[in-house]
Amino acid sequence: MTADVLVREVSLRDGLQIIRTIVPTQDKREWLDRCITAGLREIEICSFVPEKYIPQFRDAHEVAAHAVGSRSLVAAALVPNLRGAQRALEAGIPKLVCIVSATERFSQANLRRTKLESLDELRQIVHLRNQYAMQGNRAILQVGVSVAFGCPFQGTVADGDVRSTVASALEAGADEISLADTAGQGDPARVRRIFRALLQDLGGLPLAAHFHDTRGTGVANVFAALDAGVRAFDSSIGGLGGCPNSPGATGNIATEDLIFMLEAMGLDTGVDLDRLLELRAFVARCLPDVPLFGHIAQVGVPQGFVRAAEAACRRCEGLK
Ligand code: ZN
Repeated sequence: MTADVLVREVSLRDGLQIIRTIVPTQDKREWLDRCITAGLREIEICSFVPEKYIPQFRDAHEVAAHAVGSRSLVAAALVPNLRGAQRALEAGIPKLVCIVSATERFSQANLRRTKLESLDELRQIVHLRNQYAMQGNRAILQVGVSVAFGCPFQGTVADGDVRSTVASALEAGADEISLADTAGQGDPARVRRIFRALLQDLGGLPLAAHFHDTRGTGVANVFAALDAGVRAFDSSIGGLGGCPNSPGATGNIATEDLIFMLEAMGLDTGVDLDRLLELRAFVARCLPDVPLFGHIAQVGVPQGFVRAAEAACRRCEGLK
């Protein structure tokens, strides 16, 4: 049975990129295994970024080797440039995530290149991906549009800039689009408006959302995107995460809170909250000096909570 909503776990990539404590490879493997045990089926496992920029990902190849061995997982990896894409494709990663910024200023600060240069790089990555596909090594290309709902350097981002960035990414060969609220500046009204417009523009295009909870609007933004028709969301266990080049960056929405909300709404995610909380406890042991966020870990689920699939089963039983 496929889930109603896909929750993509990004703690091993977005969660770790800002943390100085280097997590040993063996712990990353267990982290990943625990994600899979909890029922998470798509996981961003690392970033193929040069070690001198983010030493945390120097073991990307080893983590990738472990991930691609799991048949029940779509292993995704962030590839900041052509070299990163090549490393990911060589490692057999089935889903590459490239970043294009919605604003020129964030593009320069985060990627050290203009938007046009980013799109050029994207075209080269598409070309390389297609060459690998001809050898039977297929990979999907997701483009994440960063600062789509607000930019820490520019402030407001015009809806038209987001739409034109998405159009350029698709023209360059992206298969999927994810809109990212990199600095947690979005609000539900803006989120719903932009996603509605995109879904109208682009019909059945796979669209995902990536929200940071910097100002407490993360889960409300999920609800707005759901309302607009989005069915894939990034989140991070314990709310870990943040972009190293975004001033005041804080974490993604906490996976455990997101799963609770979706399941309570009757939307099946395929994820087991108890296993997820065990993963959170493991992550806390791996990162004893890093604060974790999230409400469910503090107060638990309310009495009478049942998972969406179980609630549906009970309704069927009742009908018999
Ligand atoms: Zn992020």
